[in-house]
Amino acid sequence: MFATLLLGYYAGTARKLPWRDNPTGYAVWVSEMMLQQTQVATVLPYYQRWMARFPTLESLAHASQADVLSLWQGLGYYARARALHAGAAHVVNVRDGQLPTSAAELRALPGIGPYTAGAIASIAFEQPSPIVDGNVIRVLCRVFGLAGSPMHQPLKGFLWELAEALIPRGQARDFNQALMEFGALCCTPRSPLCQGCPLQQHCHAYKHGAVARLPELPERPKATPVVNVAALVRRGTRVLVGQLTSDAPRWASMWQFPNVDLTTSEAGTATESETRAVARALEAWCGVHADIGVRLHSLQHSVTRYRITVHLYEATLEEEPTARGCQAVAWCDLGELESLAMPAAHRKLASRALTG
Ligand code: SF4
Repeated sequence: MFATLLLGYYAGTARKLPWRDNPTGYAVWVSEMMLQQTQVATVLPYYQRWMARFPTLESLAHASQADVLSLWQGLGYYARARALHAGAAHVVNVRDGQLPTSAAELRALPGIGPYTAGAIASIAFEQPSPIVDGNVIRVLCRVFGLAGSPMHQPLKGFLWELAEALIPRGQARDFNQALMEFGALCCTPRSPLCQGCPLQQHCHAYKHGAVARLPELPERPKATPVVNVAALVRRGTRVLVGQLTSDAPRWASMWQFPNVDLTTSEAGTATESETRAVARALEAWCGVHADIGVRLHSLQHSVTRYRITVHLYEATLEEEPTARGCQAVAWCDLGELESLAMPAAHRKLASRALTG
């Protein structure tokens, strides 16, 4: 009954999305990686540009990391782009370009977790493999009245078993997409559309007034505040930027204004001045001493569990910069910065500093 109602709902409401037209393993892989933590509307233009530039696994495998990151910029969570790139290279170099079709084999590839493996196996290859993401968790916990934390055992494992048991024979592709679509459009986190819901008669949470209480998600840990200072060094219309090394913990291989996090005590109090920290950034990134001027711009942004405030300071160098703590340094104007992979926060700062 559950599957029949859901498939009926999907037949009537499925959005026309480019990765659904021809769901190859590669197309599903790219779309699922982009859709993690990101809305469909945001992903659409990125997906179109990506497939125009890297239409096949081979073209992605042979692309430079700079091109890959450049196309991904603005989507955030760049580890996803690196994982996709590394996975494509592995499939081309080790598996002769052939993606495996089972979820178990897909999971053995670099960068593919249980959810992505299940999505590729079911949507591209019609394998009866379950998927469990935030949408699926919400729908199953509400319809079946499942209490407890879905992030912890035993409910976590049970959800995977239930999602697998519910797949109707030979319809994994449509069923899994129906489940995700239903969670995204009808059984939403806040204000679900219970009045017009096709599952209402069978929904435990609706019958028992528990819709707002389920799923019982653990509280998110509070974001850790971080103060970061960056240097704006000008040379005519150009500014100095550095490229992080590929093993940097945040924004690996991306271009930024030289910057460091302010040193703080265990209690979170700053133990150095912002201008001293800017000078430290230029020494660490470019091996130069500098005069630090005024604070030009500030902005806030979030990265995973950090809430970062960046302050951009004017600086004048006493020597020629070299790539000391980073991979490379370059002098770029606004147009040239456009072609570099930069985190959104630094791109915004560059735009403010060079046009404001
Ligand atoms: Fe979700 Fe409401 Fe439908 Fe239950 S009745 S499945 S809570 S939309």
